[in-house]
Amino acid sequence: MNQETKIPYKIYLTEEEMPKAWYNLRADMKVKPAPLLNPGTGKPLTAEELSPIFCEELVKQELDNDTKFIEIPTEIRDFYKMFRPSPLVRAYCLEEKLNTPAKIYYKFEGNNTSGSHKLNSAIAQAYYAKKQGLKGVTTETGAGQWGTALSMACAYLGLDCKVYMVKVSYEQKPFRREVMRTYGASVVPSPSETTEVGRKILAEHPGTTGSLGCAISEAVEVATKNPGYRYVLGSVLNQVLLHQSVIGLETKIAMDKYGIKPDIIIGCAGGGSNLGGLIGPFMGEKLRGEADYRIIAVEPASCPSFTRGTFAYDFCDTGMICPLAKMYTLGSSFIPSANHAGGLRFHGMSSTLSQLYHDGYMEATSVEQTEVFKAAEFFARTEGILPAPESSHAICQALKEAEKCKETGEEKTIVFGLTGTGYFDLVAYQKYNDGEMTDYIPTDEEIAQSIAKLPHVE
Ligand SMILES: *Cc1c(COP(=O)(O)O)cnc(C)c1O
Repeated sequence: MNQETKIPYKIYLTEEEMPKAWYNLRADMKVKPAPLLNPGTGKPLTAEELSPIFCEELVKQELDNDTKFIEIPTEIRDFYKMFRPSPLVRAYCLEEKLNTPAKIYYKFEGNNTSGSHKLNSAIAQAYYAKKQGLKGVTTETGAGQWGTALSMACAYLGLDCKVYMVKVSYEQKPFRREVMRTYGASVVPSPSETTEVGRKILAEHPGTTGSLGCAISEAVEVATKNPGYRYVLGSVLNQVLLHQSVIGLETKIAMDKYGIKPDIIIGCAGGGSNLGGLIGPFMGEKLRGEADYRIIAVEPASCPSFTRGTFAYDFCDTGMICPLAKMYTLGSSFIPSANHAGGLRFHGMSSTLSQLYHDGYMEATSVEQTEVFKAAEFFARTEGILPAPESSHAICQALKEAEKCKETGEEKTIVFGLTGTGYFDLVAYQKYNDGEMTDYIPTDEEIAQSIAKLPHVE
């Protein structure tokens, strides 16, 4: 079985070895991701048009398809040092329990209070807002990790933070809300009466449990109507994938240190930020023809943007006030069924990853939530960490790949992103433990209904 003794259970980097620049995957793409469009004119958005929404430096990063490495400001690197490098763990215990010849590694991003990788981008976005002299930022949060991460970053820098939290999560995760308030953020359940778009959505869908798309519309409205505020987003955007590249860069440095070459790289996919970050430098090698890797995106069967969505321009939000992005989408009016507890609820997917998937550089698969929680339980009992339901999508697929290796006897090296911990997801775990968790797969008709409402862009 595990003959080699050289590779430690946890590979850390020294502060000196930590990345000093983010990697911009777009620079190595021959076919660039399609630009964001102005929903009014149907034309690509200019920096000028984006600047009332995002702060200046982030607009630049959003539109930059060419600069390969963008320096991480010292202040951000110092903040990173409080919780980075994150460990790359060799899952020896898991391998032994599975009795698989596969070598399994995971990059664990859950070692900070937000409980996820989201802090990597939150601190960057808050830093640039502060540098521009803004008063504060607005955002949405689904499960709450992003809101928590942003609250932490804003508290650190002395920025005001207004969070619109998807109503179902606000109600199911009161503790998450309290963490954000402890860090000084104000948290409003979405849809709310505090915005025009919120009131409109409530009038059209009374009793709705909300969606990320709705919460985004509200947060954008508040940012654009309040001087000194900008909107920040925790996933999907190019800038977020850029900041999250720190995950993949660290992983690559750690692997190179021990001469490890992954065969399969797996990540869960909500809006695509952790996956885009983890695969970044590996995908770069693949795009430049220097190496080949199997890269797998894993999404919930109840919100299957890659596997059942359409590659088209769509709104990023339900209120249809945000820019249009070309992406794999289920339609901005798609709302996952209320029994869905596993996160990854966004209707679309990062434009960068969508283009790469479209061009055949990566695969995607979907898994059902009961198998996801079964994988989570197995992982918790074997490796000790209580995983976030989102991360457990990646675990579930990694277990499947390791099982395949057992059947074929192949010693593949598998790396997956363990994006966070599940301490605030105990209502979902309770459902699973009580045997009350069910699967729901949307029908073709349901998906067709929201796809039919896609905006018409040639
Ligand atoms: C937000 C989140 C995700 C999904 O977001 P991506 O942008 O797709 O990475 C996955 N895991 C955890 C723990 C999260 O908080």
